[in-house]
Amino acid sequence: MESRSPLSGDLIDSFPISSSADVHQTVDSARIAARWWADLDWRTRRSLLMGLKHHLARHGDELAHLVHAEMGKPVDDARLEIALTIEHVHWAANHAQQILQRRKVRSGLLTLNQSATLEYQPVGVVGVIGPWNYPVFTPMGSIVYALAAGNAVVFKPSEWTTATGKWLVDAINTAIPQQPVVTLICGGGEVGSSLCTSGVDVMSFTGSARTGRRVLEACAQTMTPVVLECGGKDAAIVDQGADIAAAADAITFGAFSNAGQTCVGVERVYAHHEIFEELVDALHERASALEVGTHGGASYGPMTLPGASSVVAHHISDAVSRGGQAVLGGVESIDERVVKPVILVDVPEEAKAVTDETFGPTIVVNPVRDLDDAVDRANASGYGLAASVFGRDPRRLHSAATRLRVGMVSINSWVMYAGVPELPWGGVGESGSGRIHGADGLRAFSRAKSVVDQRFALPISLTSFDRPPWAGKLIMTAIKLRHGGWRR
Ligand code: NAD
Repeated sequence: MESRSPLSGDLIDSFPISSSADVHQTVDSARIAARWWADLDWRTRRSLLMGLKHHLARHGDELAHLVHAEMGKPVDDARLEIALTIEHVHWAANHAQQILQRRKVRSGLLTLNQSATLEYQPVGVVGVIGPWNYPVFTPMGSIVYALAAGNAVVFKPSEWTTATGKWLVDAINTAIPQQPVVTLICGGGEVGSSLCTSGVDVMSFTGSARTGRRVLEACAQTMTPVVLECGGKDAAIVDQGADIAAAADAITFGAFSNAGQTCVGVERVYAHHEIFEELVDALHERASALEVGTHGGASYGPMTLPGASSVVAHHISDAVSRGGQAVLGGVESIDERVVKPVILVDVPEEAKAVTDETFGPTIVVNPVRDLDDAVDRANASGYGLAASVFGRDPRRLHSAATRLRVGMVSINSWVMYAGVPELPWGGVGESGSGRIHGADGLRAFSRAKSVVDQRFALPISLTSFDRPPWAGKLIMTAIKLRHGGWRR
């Protein structure tokens, strides 16, 4: 299997495709590393993960150039992705013990003689399947949190970014040389499918909703728990009173950076009708100044996958045929893999450009009556990954954030939740289920273990055939006194 640069067509590296037997064998071997890793104390694991952090920070530039070459995003965008990843390594390593270690919890009225503890134990081996669009930040959101929770990982990067995946696995094995706590397997969908049925203890998948369904189906056979991080059709809402220049700046980057190939990229904009025209003008001005290409200073690069432009073309022509208007570019903006920015306005809500993930440098901007109308339209999607809201009145903005049916919201910015490691990452509906990042992300790769320890025997044992006949009534009286409320 060859990895070739979408910028030049040059061969980056080639890899053997893992057979189904290889995948099963790799998962079996990973169990040995998993046991060694899980048996280490928290402090040792933390210090080894800190070593990984140092390695990534020192060699981040080399990795950024590899990401640039392999999937085509500008080097600085790759640097940003790597910087965010390093922040997550730091947080996960430093917080795993506090969040997962055994702690006492209060016992109940009927269990006063018990001391109770809760701990989150490693699950064993976590399977991670990654996409190509953020080949560092995205899989590492699973890998690093799975490691910090005490697991080993078998990682299948996207077939389009295997060299980046290999670089990451080599980096981890350099920082943690004692045992291969992360192993690489290579290939496309069949290899991912083998991983789903290989006996991994949790499967963490990032990719399209279509593949997510297949992963869920395959994992159902072995009752393997699944974290699904799937696609999106994220909306940006611009309320009256918003700083239009700042909103346009954030939306332009959110929509067009990485050639629009971002799961949380802005694909729809709902603008209050009073500021609609001003916003469209500001977006037009910014987007038309972007430079697309393969050169160093480009704002964004070509589409990574050879066939991706045809989806973009279909969404544009469908929107226009339904009465939408292209105010910047159109199908003519597509030159094979290079797609210049396209802005569509007044597009009917049932058009593909509004309902389906385009994953290209296009946006739909539609006017709305008010903030409620904007929230309703944003929510009328099967997807529910993230959203952004721009405006002036914090009360209105937070109320919109609460009502948006998504996992993540940024107010007066785009994507900033990604840089707060404590915030869980994930979506609802077609965008997936389960969370990576933060405490939820550590627990996603753990099993809760509940233990009670009897400190002394009660005079009456409620769980004995020898309990007295009046014990049941006594329990109900006690429960009534505690939970029955004061009004009789
Ligand atoms: P994809 O679904 O085509 O592939 C994702 C991964 O799944 C690849 O590694 C692929 O080889 C593997 N795969 C394919 N068929 C499989 C099968 N039957 N069983 C198991 N694995 C299989 O997605 P993609 O094109 O690589 O990535 C783009 C998609 O990922 C977009 O929809 C994007 O929105 C989404 N994404 C989501 C997030 C998130 O955090 N929610 C992040 C990045 C990308």
